[in-house]
Amino acid sequence: MADVQDLRSLDKREIAAVCEGLGWPRFRGKQIFSWVHEKGVETIEEMTNLSLEQRQTLAAAYGIAPLRLVDTWQGDGGDTVKFLWRLPDGNTVEQVLMFYGGKETKDRVSTCVSTQTGCAMGCKFCATAMCGRGRNLTAGEIVGQILLANRWCQDHDRSIITNVVYMGMGEPLANWPQVKKSLQILNDADGLNIGWRRMTISTCGLADKIKELAEEDFQLELSVSLHSADDKIRSALMPINDRYPLDCLMEACDMFTEKTGRRITYEYAMFRDVNDSKQDAEKLCRLLRGRLAFVNIIPANPVAEAGFFPARSERIKEFVTILERNHIAVAVRHSRGQDIEAACGQLKRRNHRERQEADMPENKRK
Ligand code: SAH
Repeated sequence: MADVQDLRSLDKREIAAVCEGLGWPRFRGKQIFSWVHEKGVETIEEMTNLSLEQRQTLAAAYGIAPLRLVDTWQGDGGDTVKFLWRLPDGNTVEQVLMFYGGKETKDRVSTCVSTQTGCAMGCKFCATAMCGRGRNLTAGEIVGQILLANRWCQDHDRSIITNVVYMGMGEPLANWPQVKKSLQILNDADGLNIGWRRMTISTCGLADKIKELAEEDFQLELSVSLHSADDKIRSALMPINDRYPLDCLMEACDMFTEKTGRRITYEYAMFRDVNDSKQDAEKLCRLLRGRLAFVNIIPANPVAEAGFFPARSERIKEFVTILERNHIAVAVRHSRGQDIEAACGQLKRRNHRERQEADMPENKRK
């Protein structure tokens, strides 16, 4: 794989160009695209409607970068599954699959994918931030998570993925070119054909990038991790707020709703005695009044090292009542996967810890 290009990182137009370069007819491009991005093959050999000679020609310059499944954990009685993938360079990333049955949800299967191997944003309460900045994933590594998770679902007699949320490790808008490409590949009718409205980007609030996203006019879901409507508190939780304070962030959000007509979801992880008071709720109402907004309250997940604790349930109730009284759409989301450290902001930490321990000199000597 060393000096060959990863087909998973190529979109339909690029794969068509590869075929053109080899002097092959156009329909070959569509066939190859569908092998890679719909069927999720892991090798060129599996492309059985290409002759052996054609497969060899293709394999001379192209390949499919392997994502190796290192481990899986199942939680919530099998309704949440966490995967740990090893990337070709040895880095690891996590992915979460959530199965929702029932009449209303009609077998919704949602996956939370990673976009970076760490994160440089430094949110004080987030486990990924503690892993260091990491590197950007390629579009192929992002799409690969979904393709291979689908294969896992098929092998385990489970329904395949219907919704994709970019809420795993990393800041998607800090890796926008590759994230954008992955969205377009996932949306392609000859690939997995996942509708825009079934894909969500979550950002800590990179205002400039939100504006860029608005210009694209994609009909995707945008989630903004707000966590406070007060600049001082928000800056203490999320250093990115110093670069893009609330007025700057909200200007970008307004531009997004204006351009796309889409409502934005504001994520609000509630931490005990940090952002859970009546005043915090009132400030949030003032910030969102008149805006096309939905507030998602997440009882914070404990990340032991960070010293943040989940808000008490009475505080959450009181907070929600204030929002409702002010006609702000709100829901409390009970985060899945807590029993397997797969809940929001909890990814990778344990494995990272284990690796750190393994790297300690006394352990290496063994
Ligand atoms: N970088 C992106 C997406 C990854 S994090 C973003 O910031 O939106 C996904 C969500 O989990 C974000 O809303 C993040 O703020 C939240 N999160 C991180 N740590 C958390 C914790 N300990 N408890 C609750 N939510 C947390």
